[in-house]
Amino acid sequence: MQKGTIGVTTDNIFPIIKQFLYSDHEIFLREIVSNAVDATQKLRILSQRGEVKGELGDLTIHVNVDKDKGTITISDRGIGMTEEEINKYINQIAFSGANEFLEKYKKDDAASIIGHFGLGFYSAFMVSKQVDIVTRSYKEDAKAMKWTCDGTPEFQMEETEKEGRGTDIILYIDDDCKEYLEKYKILELLRKYCKFLPVPVACGKKTEWKDGKEVDTDEDNIINNVNPLWKQKTTELKDEDYKKFYQELYPGNDEPMFWIHLNVDYPFNLTGVLYFPKIKNNIELQHNKIQLYCNQVFVTDQVENIVPEFLTLLHGVIDSPDIPLNVSRSYLQSDANVKKISNYIMKKVSDRLQSQFKENRKEFEEKWDDLKLFIHYGMLSQPNFYDKAKDYALLKDTEGKYYTYEEYKKLIEGNQTDKNKNLIYLYSNNVEEQYSFVETAKEKGYSVLLLDGQLDVPMVGLLEEKLGQCRFSRVDADIVERLIQKEDELKTNLSDEQTQQLSTIFKSQLPSLSGKDFHVEAQALGENSNPVMITQNEFSRRMKEMSRIQQGMSFYGQMPDMYAVVLNADHPLIKKVLDDATQKTEAALKPILAELKGLHARQSVLRQQQNDKKPEEITQEMKDDLETCNKSIREEETKRDNIISSYAKDNDIVHQLIDLALLQNGLLKGDALNQFLKRSINLIH
Ligand code: ADP
Repeated sequence: MQKGTIGVTTDNIFPIIKQFLYSDHEIFLREIVSNAVDATQKLRILSQRGEVKGELGDLTIHVNVDKDKGTITISDRGIGMTEEEINKYINQIAFSGANEFLEKYKKDDAASIIGHFGLGFYSAFMVSKQVDIVTRSYKEDAKAMKWTCDGTPEFQMEETEKEGRGTDIILYIDDDCKEYLEKYKILELLRKYCKFLPVPVACGKKTEWKDGKEVDTDEDNIINNVNPLWKQKTTELKDEDYKKFYQELYPGNDEPMFWIHLNVDYPFNLTGVLYFPKIKNNIELQHNKIQLYCNQVFVTDQVENIVPEFLTLLHGVIDSPDIPLNVSRSYLQSDANVKKISNYIMKKVSDRLQSQFKENRKEFEEKWDDLKLFIHYGMLSQPNFYDKAKDYALLKDTEGKYYTYEEYKKLIEGNQTDKNKNLIYLYSNNVEEQYSFVETAKEKGYSVLLLDGQLDVPMVGLLEEKLGQCRFSRVDADIVERLIQKEDELKTNLSDEQTQQLSTIFKSQLPSLSGKDFHVEAQALGENSNPVMITQNEFSRRMKEMSRIQQGMSFYGQMPDMYAVVLNADHPLIKKVLDDATQKTEAALKPILAELKGLHARQSVLRQQQNDKKPEEITQEMKDDLETCNKSIREEETKRDNIISSYAKDNDIVHQLIDLALLQNGLLKGDALNQFLKRSINLIH
């Protein structure tokens, strides 16, 4: 028997391995099974070269849990190891690998390397108090060897008996890792990490129900698919195969929209399949992720640094031995290979979308609503993806018709260019809620887009920047006459005094809604337009919407919603209100208006006096005079407004018109809505 010490600088390295990698204990199984796969693959190669004679026999790797003995045994029928090889690969090389890992671990961004770094054989000590290797090399006359190590740097090695070629790794599971002695736990880990290994892996036997009990059958319970779809030739695959594989990856998910088979071997090696999923909600987005494999061994589903960010929304598998898995995230981001891979994937995805669009436009349109989230995300986050996608990205109008950017521009150019040569894109984000605005715009012959996607708010900003001289405006951002301004300002036929009076009547009766700001104006819009309309300023609304999805814009988020209340001076009801108000308030207002007229005259004289002087020549008395005059004006105005508002308070038409306009914008709620219902019933009576 040989006893020895593993060449270490510190004798408590195993407790360190344990402690450092606590969160990632489970990778031990992946590491040990991967070694078994490697040993089997090496044997296959030697056999192909004729260096191993005869039949190889069944090469299945067995993972067996013995709860009573407290062991997990991983057995392979690969090349095995001779005594010299154990000395070299286990006692020296493997250990130095572990040592190197720890050195790196201390320096590097800890969380990022865990799980990516193959700690190899020694990761077994994360969960074991003792590890035995029983192995016999394929080489003729090789003696079977047993190596034992109890987690100190001392090991023992002796000759032993073993039938046939291959290696058994026996893990004596630590008392604080007992969970790994549960078969279901081991099955879970095998399914996570070993699902697509290229050598069959069996965990126990398949079971069946007999006499009300679950019993083992003779058949091995193989947990992996040795020939996963992404390794197969595209020419031999049918749509059904891709759909089936999708189910294998994400059981229970809806069918994917389409997929892309990746296959490149220069300048890097990468295979895989990416699926465009149908996304029902945001939660799902976080659940199913692209899985990264390295030679069919699962590595991670955190692929943020390897595929462009927007493509992390896709599903599927990427397999590449060329992605460095043993380095930190920050290093990955600057790695040239990784950048190439990321660009390659983006180009592939874009080419596929482009060919879908070209070859079957109708089908592409049918998928667009589900696709646009991915495409918009890409266009927003990657300028070079925008340049590709702009030719096939679609706009959908409120009637469900689809256009490319170019087609839509041609469609609206004639009728929707304003006097400043801006092309105005009108849109709604909710046709039900903005129904009357959409209809009014359509009656004018305008086209209205439906922009109801999660990313349409930032997309609108991007398109305004990219599409040249243009502006996007929601249909309720202004009265239809001003949505696309073709001539100069609208005029009213009212005197300043009348405009002022009308505004006060309505302004005084508007409900005070928290976080909402109303500005009242009067316009002559023709008898057939609505008497009162409420519109919401495009800019402030959009800034608020952006602040919700973008950091650093919270200033806009706190701003009130800005509404314009437009009174149609041409409408008979508005005329009626004005006439009636003039009549009823004339007597009371007359002295006040006369007083105001005098005060205004005095105010302008005083102002003029001060304007003619240098600042130092203006006396305190002059300042006081102007101040007193201003104060009197404010007092008279308050009196005037009080008279008007006490008139308006009892005018049902005013209230009804305001409520109808609020209702049209979805702003009439709670008690105000209740009042409106009661008043409406009274009016019908
Ligand atoms: P790595 O697999 O990265 O080389 P490991 O620490 O996992 O590092 O393994 C060290 C070496 O031990 C392997 O390269 C291999 O030569 C040998 N080895 C490990 N497990 C087996 C096995 N099941 N059969 C044959 N050789 C093995």
